[in-house]
Amino acid sequence: MGKRVEVHVSASGKDGGVQDLERFSQEILREAYLVGAGRKSSGNEAAIFQRWRKLFLPSALERFPRGPPRSRQRLEEFVKVGYVDRAIAPWQDRRRNKLLRAHVRCRGQEMPFFSASVLLAELPDREERHRLYGELSGVWRSVSEEEEAIWATFQEGVRSLGFSNGRTATEALFHYDVPHLLGQTRRFTDSTRGLFERLLRERADAEGVPFQELRAYDSGRLLRGADWSRRFPKSGLVPFLKRFLRGTGLPWESFRPDLAVRPRKNPRAFCAPVRIPEEVYLVLRPAGGHDDYHTALHEMGHALHFGLTDPALHTVFRRLGDASLTEGWAFVLDLLFLNGEFRRTMITDPAFVRFFALSQLWMLRRYAGKIDYESRFFRNPLDPRSRADYVRSLARTTLVRPDEEGHMGDRWRSDIDPWMYTAAYLRAWMFAGAFTDLLEERWGLRWWTHKGSGEFLARLWARGQYPTVEDLLEEFGLGELSLAPLERLLRRSLEA
Ligand SMILES: [Zn+2]
Repeated sequence: MGKRVEVHVSASGKDGGVQDLERFSQEILREAYLVGAGRKSSGNEAAIFQRWRKLFLPSALERFPRGPPRSRQRLEEFVKVGYVDRAIAPWQDRRRNKLLRAHVRCRGQEMPFFSASVLLAELPDREERHRLYGELSGVWRSVSEEEEAIWATFQEGVRSLGFSNGRTATEALFHYDVPHLLGQTRRFTDSTRGLFERLLRERADAEGVPFQELRAYDSGRLLRGADWSRRFPKSGLVPFLKRFLRGTGLPWESFRPDLAVRPRKNPRAFCAPVRIPEEVYLVLRPAGGHDDYHTALHEMGHALHFGLTDPALHTVFRRLGDASLTEGWAFVLDLLFLNGEFRRTMITDPAFVRFFALSQLWMLRRYAGKIDYESRFFRNPLDPRSRADYVRSLARTTLVRPDEEGHMGDRWRSDIDPWMYTAAYLRAWMFAGAFTDLLEERWGLRWWTHKGSGEFLARLWARGQYPTVEDLLEEFGLGELSLAPLERLLRRSLEA
């Protein structure tokens, strides 16, 4: 089945530059883990960049071993991206630390910003939601100065690398074909428009909000799926993950779960591969509900990918690569929720099936709106007209109107990750849709109960970040990147 690519390059022992890269990565990821997990009250990534600044100077490349072209190319991209990331790091720290210190009032109580953000989806009362949304927006506005500095520095950084703007820099350094992604997402939003509207109306009715009046502060509540929260208790999360691992024969010991609730823990789950493969954290703040289970599967996809990477693989290919691949592995697990056979092991309620398809359509359409917006935003992130563009682009794809006060626009620069990470997600969804077809073709809809599928995935994960998503699609004859397989999975999920 396709050609096996040779992934080991000789580690010469004299590659001091590569050893530094490894140490830098460990330090920055450990800091990200401690802060994101709420185990540290403030972060200082800028100090780590400063300590390792020699890695991000043009001369850094001379310290790296020659190696094969792919390794050389990844190192070159690492130096350039790091050059910009180092410049924005002090502002990123200030912004993050401000958010960590921020408190808002809700129901007569002061609470940390992150805890309040989680609470927004819990409030059944619209007026209460509306008020809290306004409070949270105030916190987002309080970091607008830092955000402006981040994007001004980003722009300056990519220009000094010789790129005309952030979009051309991202396309060149990350190899994203943005026009192709725009074409795919437009086709997807057009063809799913009717289905999406039907499911959204149904959900709005169930939550007692007239469809025509849906506002930005309602969406979290609609997608919370509170009706089924009790079916997905926090206490069942670990057994749920272990069941998948037992079926596939994959080892639980390959990563370290951090599922504790801490007041400053970021509600956005993540995986921190501090040392690959020995020390990989799966970080999640459980709130009870389907999203914990779904997100945990996603993060476990990352954790298994890094945790099962061959330790003998060269540092460059353990550490560096396009995030679309690891996101793709995460989505391969995450898409199991669309698989009727898998879902039946958790819940059989047909209303949940429709709700879950809605939540997935929502995410995809939100990212379709985001890539559309970002394709312009990255050309000039300082243009204040982008604020209105942000609201328009997202309202068009999610069919939700902004709040009455226009606070939705407050996130026009905070809802964006540098280097168009949105593109990585979209590429990953496309890859995962196609790869799921392959798994189902080989082992059937119940592929996760076959040890063979686990062995197959483990062999691919051992290759770390060496391959690109395009390499794997080609190796297994899965065609080009397209949203069509995923759309099929989504529609099929409604029939099962
Ligand atoms: Zn992910």
